[in-house]
Amino acid sequence: MSATVNLSQLQKDHGDFIERVYKMSGQDVRKCYQCGKCSAGCAVHNCHGMDVSPNRIMRMVQLGMEEEVLKTKTIWVCVVCSTCTARCPRDIDIGRVMDALRIMAKERNMMQYAKNATDFHQTFVNNIATFGRMYEALFAVALTLKTGFIFNIVDIAPATLLKGNLPFFPASMKNSRQVKEIMENIKRMEGEQ
Ligand code: SF4
Ligand code: SF4
Repeated sequence: MSATVNLSQLQKDHGDFIERVYKMSGQDVRKCYQCGKCSAGCAVHNCHGMDVSPNRIMRMVQLGMEEEVLKTKTIWVCVVCSTCTARCPRDIDIGRVMDALRIMAKERNMMQYAKNATDFHQTFVNNIATFGRMYEALFAVALTLKTGFIFNIVDIAPATLLKGNLPFFPASMKNSRQVKEIMENIKRMEGEQ
């Protein structure tokens, strides 16, 4: 027997969670209609860094799945790059939603992925600083060496290579020098703080 999900009832029952996300992020997740454009454009999701896609996170918030959302790795590995926001037809700033969810998880001491997230962010930024844009193959290797999650890469590499999503060589980029300069400026500003 299949269970019927009453979406309006779920939102009524769990409206408190959506309201808190709204108050903290300023974003109304109810507007999301699951087009999936955010996930399609998310580099972190596309290099298999997330356990739940960004559009599914939006849906889980709509459904009031607080415990489940706050336990995801996704909220910690989102780098708030705003690519998804630029693509969202509903003008939802998903990075700000992720920020709010991280604060909530921290308040509830649900930090199981926080250490991995720091490693992930550092590796991600180093990769961009070196190549000017994401070079997925080296990113995957560097992250695996840093976190020791060797089985992650072994599991995903064959399918990813077959799909052509893991090029062996970095793509050339016109303005990589400027990206390096931006990164160096950020490091200098952080050192001055
Ligand atoms: S802000 Fe987060 S969810 Fe959005 S594209 Fe960037 S990493 Fe992905
Ligand atoms: S792009 Fe916007 S509307 Fe589409 S699934 Fe993502 S959050 Fe929802």
